[in-house]
Amino acid sequence: MSGTALDPRTAPVFPMAARSAMGDTQLRKNVRHATDVIQGKRARVVGEMPDWQELREAGKRIRQHTMAHLDVYLEEFERNCTKAGGVVHWARDAAEARRIIVDLVKATGSDEVIKIKSMTTEEIQLNPALEAAGIHPFETDLAELIIQLGEDQPSHIVVPALHKNRQQIREIFRTKMNLPELGERPQDLADAARMFLREKFLRVKTGVSGANFLIAETGGVCVVESEGNGRMCLTLPETLITVAGIDKVVPRFQDLEVLLQVLPRSATGERMNPYNSIWTGVDAADGPKAFHIVLMDNARTEILADAEGRQTLNCIRCGACQNACPVYRQTGGHAYGSVYAGPIGAILTPQLMEMEHAQSLPYASSLCGACYEVCPVKINIPEVLIHLRNKVVEQNGMRNVEALAMRAMGMIFQSERRFRAAQRMGRIAESPLVRKDGQGQGWIGWLPGLLGGWTQVRDLQSMPKETFRDWWEKRGTDGK
Ligand code: SF4
Repeated sequence: MSGTALDPRTAPVFPMAARSAMGDTQLRKNVRHATDVIQGKRARVVGEMPDWQELREAGKRIRQHTMAHLDVYLEEFERNCTKAGGVVHWARDAAEARRIIVDLVKATGSDEVIKIKSMTTEEIQLNPALEAAGIHPFETDLAELIIQLGEDQPSHIVVPALHKNRQQIREIFRTKMNLPELGERPQDLADAARMFLREKFLRVKTGVSGANFLIAETGGVCVVESEGNGRMCLTLPETLITVAGIDKVVPRFQDLEVLLQVLPRSATGERMNPYNSIWTGVDAADGPKAFHIVLMDNARTEILADAEGRQTLNCIRCGACQNACPVYRQTGGHAYGSVYAGPIGAILTPQLMEMEHAQSLPYASSLCGACYEVCPVKINIPEVLIHLRNKVVEQNGMRNVEALAMRAMGMIFQSERRFRAAQRMGRIAESPLVRKDGQGQGWIGWLPGLLGGWTQVRDLQSMPKETFRDWWEKRGTDGK
C-alpha cells in the first residue's frame, strides 16, 4: 500500500530534486500556507512565555547532560523497564531493528499491526519489511494514514502530510475508502478517518509505536500526540512494540516538565499536547499484556563521538526549524530524499547515512540562522552544517573540481599582481556571455559547464569596467 520509501542512497541529489519540486506550484502553495499557519500559532504561544529563553536553555542543558552520560541513562532505562515487565531489545542498525520487530510480530501470530506515527519506523523503512513478511501495517495517525492511502511519503517530521491540501485529502479518502459522496469539510474527513480506523483499533491485536521520550528513572515511555489515535494504539492491543533511537532517553521524570512545555509550542503552536501518554512496562489489569522496546543505535554512537556533530542528537523532533527554513518552505520535504527534511534533515541524514549518500544536504541551506533561532533546545544547526560541509570537502579531497578551483582562488587572493591579472582575464573571458540592458548594465544569464551552478537560479552581474582600486588610484593623492 505504501509508495517508494524515501532513501538517500537512491534519491536524486538535492539541487535536482529541489528544481522539480519548485516547478510544482500547488505543492509550494500548500507548504507555504501550512508553515505560515504553524509559525503564526507558534509565535503567539511562545510570546506568552516570559521565560521562553530560560526554558530553551534548560532544554539544551537536559539534552547535553543526557548525551554526555548516554550509556549510564540507557542502562538505567533498561533496568527499570525490565523491572516493570517490559522486554528491552538492542539493535545496532536499521536491518537488525527491522528483523527484531518482524520476528516479534510473527511471534504474536498476527498478520496485521496498527501503527502510531513514528519517524523512527520511517527511518528504518519498517513498513516495506513488514509487508515483505506478509504483515500488513495500518497507519493510524491521521497524516500518516493520508500518506499511506495516497501511496505517498512524509514531507515533515510533525505534519507528514503538510504538502497536501483538503481537496487532495478528500480525493484520497473518497477513492481509497470507497466513499463517493464524501464531503470536504474538515468534520467530514475526520469522520471518515474515524470510521475507517475504529474497526482497525478494535480488531488488530498488535501495535507498533515510536517514542518521544524514554525516562531512565522510571523505565517509562512517553508519546505525545494531538488526535488520541496514538493512545488507542498504545492501550488496546495485546502486544505493544515500541522502537526508539537511543537518543530519546531523558534522565528524570521531572525533565518532562521542561520538554513538554517547549515541544508542543514549537511543534504545532499548542500550549500542551492534547494527549500525553506515559506507560511503564505492563500491568495485569490494564493495557497491553506484552511490551517490547527496541532501542536502536543506527549510527547514533558515531554522531555522539563527533564533538561538533553531537548536538544533532539533542533534537526533540519538533519540526520548528523546518517551518522557519526559507529553503524548506520553497521545496517542501521530498526534495531532501530522506524522511528527515529541512534543516534537521540536512544535518541528521548525512550523519545517519554514510555521508557519500547525502553530500548535497549540508548545502541545502542559506545559513540564515532562522532554524537556530526557533530551535527549542538551541541546536546550532548552521554550525553543524558548516562542519558537515567541511567533511564533504575532506571526503572528496583532490578529486573534486570545486576544491581545486577554490585552491586556485586561494593562490590568486594571496597576491595583488595575480589578483589584478585574474580580473583582467575574467573581463575578457566573460565578454561573449555578457548581455546588456537599456541602461548599459551588463549581466550574465548563463555560464558553461560546472560554472553553470552560479547562474542556475539567478543572473550574475558582469564585472565593472573599472575596479575600485583602479578608480582609487586615478583619484590621485589630493583625493579628487
Ligand atoms: S533541530 Fe531543533 S527545531 Fe529542528 S526539529 Fe530538532 S528540536 Fe526542533
